[in-house]
Parts: sequence; structure tokens; C-alpha cells
Amino acid sequence: MQWTVRLESRTSEGEVKTTELVTFSRPGVVSTLAEVGLMLAETKALLARLQASMLCGQVAAYAAHHRVCAACGVLQPLKDRRTRRLQTLFGTVEVEAPRFKVCRCRLTTPLAEVTVSPICALLTARCTPELERVQAELGARTSFRDGVRILESLLPVSSANHESLRTRTHAVARQLEAADRQAAAKVTAVRDEPAKTAAADASRPVVMLDGAYIRAVPGHQVRNFEAICGKVEREGHATRRFALVRSVAEQPHALLRAALLDQGWREGDAVTAISDGDPALPALVRSATAGPVEPILDWFHLSMRVHHVEQVMRGLCALKPLSLVLPDHAQIDVERLRHLLWNGHHEKACEALGRIASWAKDAIVLNEPGVEAKARRLVARCTELHSYIESNKDALIDYGQRSQAGKPISTSRAEGTVNNLVNARMNKRRQMRWSPRGAHRVLQVRAAVLDGRFRQQAIQLAA
Ligand SMILES: [Zn+2]
Repeated sequence: MQWTVRLESRTSEGEVKTTELVTFSRPGVVSTLAEVGLMLAETKALLARLQASMLCGQVAAYAAHHRVCAACGVLQPLKDRRTRRLQTLFGTVEVEAPRFKVCRCRLTTPLAEVTVSPICALLTARCTPELERVQAELGARTSFRDGVRILESLLPVSSANHESLRTRTHAVARQLEAADRQAAAKVTAVRDEPAKTAAADASRPVVMLDGAYIRAVPGHQVRNFEAICGKVEREGHATRRFALVRSVAEQPHALLRAALLDQGWREGDAVTAISDGDPALPALVRSATAGPVEPILDWFHLSMRVHHVEQVMRGLCALKPLSLVLPDHAQIDVERLRHLLWNGHHEKACEALGRIASWAKDAIVLNEPGVEAKARRLVARCTELHSYIESNKDALIDYGQRSQAGKPISTSRAEGTVNNLVNARMNKRRQMRWSPRGAHRVLQVRAAVLDGRFRQQAIQLAA
């Protein structure tokens, strides 16, 4: 049995042309399941032929159209025939790119010879925008080598190596970043005062930031470098992710600013920034908004430090330290810590920490060496938490109240972003090492892909 696929093309003038694409043949009566239906290899061949046929037809029509002098309507003489290659998702196609002598009516000196190549104006790149986008998306989702394998296994795509997939991913990242910078540079109208207060109360954008470490390529000055990842959330808007490696981002604040603008934020609107106590993170938000920022210390990071104190205290009490004055009070203080911090009483929490530490110091003096080690650890944990609270006191809030109002108090969702953005593509288990620039670029595409704004934006970029 045979199947022949023919392509019928019809021009706008009604001219019809039929081209035979491929013929598939099978035994008249199949004997195995494997013989039923189209095979991948056949489909790839079909797609490649279809693409070549369609593309060459379009390019030829384009050349014919541009051969006619726009000024006088005369056919411009053919100078020579050249070819150009275009890489597409469905194979590399070689097209004719004729050059024409420019019509005499448009020459200033009659004897001069000027040639034009209309196809060069059409084929502005070596690959189609769609191929570039698909390659960039794969490069952002998986390793460059796997991306190449996936594409080649499914499509008659022009064979590429992982280097070219990397190049395409980087190129698309540069476009995305440039679009963000452009968006950030636009002057936005300042809201009217009443609108501003309404926005502040109802749905102020929340920026959740977190850092992640990526292993650097050998020969780089440091072993690890930091990527800043985050999310901008606002009621009624789809979450917008962003990520950057500060040392190589051209304008780090512009990337965050573009994300905020995307969420309907306008110049002068207040923004809430939740982060882990690294002062660089709220500072980035401040430089992006050039306006009011309400910093909030992430509850999760604070709570972890409280947990450390609680844990050491439990271990210490299990040893039943002797000759201690009122150990119960220290225990009660430890139990109250979490509650005090949750409700925004950070000064009281600091006082409690002071009491716990001095009790632990007494325990060191009054007890056996076994107790001493644990008591010293308790003092260290208390001091740590105390200085963490002190250095972040402007970012401590009444977490209970905020939580009850249904507002986010933690970057745990930002940590999910870190996992999605960084760890899934760049963690240590994958044995991958990155240059800061390479990581930064892949992160731009990954964030766009995960947000679902990649295809939409890429079409705008390609236009
Ligand atoms: Zn002319």
C-alpha cells in the first residue's frame, strides 16, 4: 500500500501548483503493530519537505514582488543568482536570493551600477524567530545538550550543537532584558492621591526576595556566586518572577522595576518587601521603586533562629542541671520567645533573651563540664538571635496580625521560586558550573518561561 502527500499551493491570483512531497509504502496487510500509522522518521521527512516547499515559494514570491521597480513599474534586470540558508524548526532550507540591478530611473548617475538583494532584507537572521524561541525555552528548562537531543529526536530541525543552543538562549535573554530595561525606563504617571491610598490599603504589591548560591566555573574568582530570585505578587495579577546575578546584570533594579510595573505598580506607590535579613535585598527594592518601601523580615528565617534556641534549651533541661536558681523562669522565657516575636514585641523578646543568657552563664559556673558545653551553646544561640533582631528591628512587625489579615509574612513562596528558577537547573547535583553571565541569562529566560510570559513577549520582540 502507498500513500503520496501532495501540496497544493494557490496564489492570490488563483494560480495553482501541485508539488509531490513524500510517498510512504507499507505491506498491503500489516502484520505487526509497529507498521500501523505514521512513523517519526516519515513525519520528519514530510515536515521537512513541506517546510522547504512552502518557504521557497514564499521567498520566490517575495523576490518577484520586489523585482518590480516601485517608481516606474519596470522589471529590474537580474544581476546574479545566489543562495541563502535559513535554519528553521523543520530543517535548514536553502533559498534562492537573486540580486537585481537597481532600475535606471532611480540612479542619480546613469552609468553607475547598483545592485539590490531583496531577500537579504527579509532574512535578517540565520534562523527563524520561532526556532530561536523554542531553543531558548529548552535551554532554559534543561541542559543545553539535552535540549539539542530533545529537538533532534522529535523534529527535522537543523542539526545544532549545545553551543548554538547556548548562544540562542543568551540572545533571547538579552532581548528579554533589553525589553525590561525599556519598560523600566518609561516614565509612569504618578497616581492621584486618593487612588494611591486606596492602592496602599487594598493590594500593595509584595516583593519576596531570596538569594541562592550557584557553583562557579573553575578559574572564576569565587567558588560560588549569588543569584537573587524573587516574586512580585499583587491581588488580581498573575505572579511575576524575576532573577538576576547582580554583578553582571546591566541594571539590576530595572529588572525588578519592570516586574513591578507589570503588576500595575506606579511611581510613588508603596511596596512591601519580605526578605531574610540581608540588607542588600530591601535596598534593591528601594532602588527599583525610588519610593516608599515597607521592609518585613521573613518570619520563616526568624522562626528558625528561635527554633535553635528552643532546641538547645530542651537538650540542656534534659541534663537536669543542678544547683540552679529558678530554672523554670528561663524555661518560661524560652517558651515565650516565639509568641513575643510573632506578636511584634521584639524589645520584650530581647529582654527575655538577656535573662536566658545570664541564666545559662550561671549554669556554666555551677555545673559539670557536660552541662557547660550545652550552656555555652545556648548563650551563643541567644546572642545570635539577639543581634539578628537588633539588626532587623525596622523590619519586624506584628506577624500575627498580618497573618490574620491573610497577607504574606514569609518568603517561603519566594523559596519555591528559588527552587523553580535556580535549583532545578543549576543545583549541585547536576554537577554544573556556571559563569555569572551564563547563569544570569538562563535565569532571565527561565523566569519568563515559568511565568508564561515568554511566548507572548517573544512574539512582541520578534515583531
Ligand atoms: Zn524604475
